[in-house]
Amino acid sequence: MKRHSIVAAVLAALGILAAAPVAQAQQKFITIGTGGVTGVYYAAGGAICRLVNKDRARHGIRCSVESTGGSVFNINTIKAGELDMGVAQSDVHYNAARGLAVFQKDGAFKELRAVFALHPEPVTVVARKEANAKSFADFKGKRFNVGNPGSGTRASLEELIGAMGWKLSDFALASELKADEHGPALCDGKIDGFFYLVGHPSANIQDPTTVCGAKLVPVTGAAVDRLVKEKPYYAKATIPGGLYPGNPQPTETYGVLATFVSSSKVPADTIYAVVKAVFDNFDEFKKLHPALAALNPKNMIADGLSAPLHDGAARYYREKGWMK
Ligand code: GLU
Repeated sequence: MKRHSIVAAVLAALGILAAAPVAQAQQKFITIGTGGVTGVYYAAGGAICRLVNKDRARHGIRCSVESTGGSVFNINTIKAGELDMGVAQSDVHYNAARGLAVFQKDGAFKELRAVFALHPEPVTVVARKEANAKSFADFKGKRFNVGNPGSGTRASLEELIGAMGWKLSDFALASELKADEHGPALCDGKIDGFFYLVGHPSANIQDPTTVCGAKLVPVTGAAVDRLVKEKPYYAKATIPGGLYPGNPQPTETYGVLATFVSSSKVPADTIYAVVKAVFDNFDEFKKLHPALAALNPKNMIADGLSAPLHDGAARYYREKGWMK
């Protein structure tokens, strides 16, 4: 037996040879940047990939998700060409497209492209039961998790405390734990509260409310009213009562939308295949996480998208007659 036929025999025995040449020629790998594994981005990205991968034999795309630090990280990493797509808050999306706030030093990300909007993300403030916090302002002088740099959560917190005239030094401790760590830190008594922009219901909030009786705290007042009036990406929001143990009351706050974004450098055929996988299997998509259950295509292609639509997404929406 010649050397290469020995290799071939081994590969054939492993069942690899027959499939390999075809699959390798067509296989294309794409990655979605999400957030912490206990948040909703990770689950939403997983839902999108699952539907894309179902049809892999036809389009040859293999989709995977990456757990990341959140919105700002996802957009910066798409810009660097190291992620194909990602989930990002609509405020972060807006500021990245225009080179504002955290994106000021890098300037506008001209190649940023909107694909569709996802679930609402209310500003969610959670307190230790013993902290007895009645509003966000009660955390002045307390130990508060402001979110990791790279998260959309942190970007939104900076905007809120800026509007209130506060600085990070107004907290006794402004910790920068990632979202997956803030619940355990709260229940261990290491922090008094945390800030998180997330869809509901979320495992991340379920845990501390179940484990140590954590309470959702309203985020209202003059600074919030002003932000909602001035910024196109904010709206008042209510977290419904009874979603989490020990929190029967509705919680007044404000928030943004989660959006799905990419870059004009990602081929239209790729984004078309992703969008088609989601909307052709829309009932299944909505069932993959409870925070996705209320989505509808009409709002998903209109709300919260400030970067231009990706060509591949626009192609699908036109085919559907959803836009001109
Ligand atoms: N909105 C959060 C952020 O960008 C992530 C939320 C999630 O992972 O569901 O920081």
